[in-house]
Amino acid sequence: MNVAVLLAGGSGRRMGGPEPKQFIQIAGRSILEHSIRAFHEHEGIDEIVVVAHADYIDRIRGIAAPYEKVKHIVPGGKERYDSSLAAIACYKGQMSVNLLIHDAVRPLVSTRIISDCIEALKTYKAVDVAIPCTDTIVEVNAEGAICRITPRSMLRNVQTPQCFRLETIAKAYEIGLKDPTFVTSDDCGVVFRYLPDEPIYVVAGETTNIKVTYPEDLILAEKILKQ
Ligand code: C5P
Repeated sequence: MNVAVLLAGGSGRRMGGPEPKQFIQIAGRSILEHSIRAFHEHEGIDEIVVVAHADYIDRIRGIAAPYEKVKHIVPGGKERYDSSLAAIACYKGQMSVNLLIHDAVRPLVSTRIISDCIEALKTYKAVDVAIPCTDTIVEVNAEGAICRITPRSMLRNVQTPQCFRLETIAKAYEIGLKDPTFVTSDDCGVVFRYLPDEPIYVVAGETTNIKVTYPEDLILAEKILKQ
């Protein structure tokens, strides 16, 4: 069973508007609804879980009502990984479940990306989506001075979905949460750190699979959707 997990539990502070960015309308629908539709219309997806900010559960119920693949709407947590854990908990102990964990604020994920992730999960237990970096990336120290530069040709910008066999991501978090230094900004990072022998396959992302973060991203997303 392939389950799409839409993480919509954030408060979207960087956008600066009165409500979380997943509720902003573009091309006639909320960003969250565009994301739900992308997975709902894919024949390989069996169920959808939406992880919501506790204050917005009822609103999300309304948005998700027409989409029968949405089986769970659950409250998220303070950090992004708390929201991933809330979705993982919905399927605790079940066999043969794949989770495709997606930022709800990436409404332009393509059918091709979803298909390639589902295909890769037949071979790999962890799958990421990424595109080559176009900017040079530098690491800075506490004083703000450059301390490391990795050659750009080896770097990738990570997108979502990040996809896993349920038992693999559950195990990675189980180990990670016992680590007092645990910190993560994504789910593949948890597998990478705590299940180091597990290969993480990388599916080619797309430059249009943007994470709507800043006001200018809305203009671009609207243009792409209207095309
Ligand atoms: O904050 P960031 O841009 O990494 O958020 C990516 C996605 O994760 C967004 O769709 C956001 O709603 C979601 N998120 C969440 N729970 C949090 C923080 C972020 O579901 N506590």
